[in-house]
Amino acid sequence: MSKVQVIHTAEELQQFRQKLNENAHSLGFVPTMGALHNGHVSLIKKSTEENDYTLISIFVNPKQFNNSEDLKQYPRTLSADLTQLEGLNNCVVFAPDEAELYPQNDGFVPMELGSTGNVLEGAFRPGHFEGVVHVVHNLFRLVAANKAYFGQKDFQQLAIIRLLTRFYGFKTTIIACPTVREASGLAMSSRNMRLNEKELQDALIIIETLRFVESAKNKRTISETLASAKNSFNAGNLSLEYLAIVDPETLCELKDWQENQICCIAAHCGSVRLIDNLLF
Ligand code: AMP
Repeated sequence: MSKVQVIHTAEELQQFRQKLNENAHSLGFVPTMGALHNGHVSLIKKSTEENDYTLISIFVNPKQFNNSEDLKQYPRTLSADLTQLEGLNNCVVFAPDEAELYPQNDGFVPMELGSTGNVLEGAFRPGHFEGVVHVVHNLFRLVAANKAYFGQKDFQQLAIIRLLTRFYGFKTTIIACPTVREASGLAMSSRNMRLNEKELQDALIIIETLRFVESAKNKRTISETLASAKNSFNAGNLSLEYLAIVDPETLCELKDWQENQICCIAAHCGSVRLIDNLLF
């Protein structure tokens, strides 16, 4: 099978971009932190269907980690990632180092994230979204993609990406892709690699809780539903950070059911922090 081309520098990326422009080829972009799984692959496949070329970035972004141990433990599996991408047509990997992506005087001006950035992940991971905005800003500027693909698993991140695209005036169209799950219901995540067999079982309480909340819609009040869901959750082996039912646009917590809401959860399973959500 054909090996995927890998580029490491901003200069190589600019040359690649230039060639696509000369041939009027469209470019789809899938930013990742590597340790690729079928969730990532679903984004990449969608991009290959919709664009002439696809660029996949693989970069564990230190700026978005508020916990140095989490950064240290984050899986880095570049050669396995490249093997996984073999055979995909017209895909190129961009795997820069930190200096390449964050040159001195990179011209980045932070944006105000407002209420979208303060709640849920923003409340529990101070500085996380500021780091996401910085890396995506620098990547978007370099890549100048026609479309960029993001997973709904990181629902709040997707909302922030839409904000930054508007704020900085990027021409890239943002495409949201559904969450890919294991047959067990566990949302795929690079961090799942760090779970042992027992923890993989324990972690199923996340999807069970989300499905329980969905099943209570319009049958019990939101506050009753959350109280009962938290009770059951706390009887399991994970440690809950938050469980919230919010408006999909504003991310404000809801008191009453609406036509559409999203239930978001974050919890620690052993030393691994997991997030998930369900839109219903
Ligand atoms: P990450 O490597 O975790 O930064 O994720 C890179 C992209 O893949 C982000 O847009 C994520 O939302 C997306 N992603 C991660 N896990 C999944 C999943 N299980 N299903 C769909 N997309 C995902």
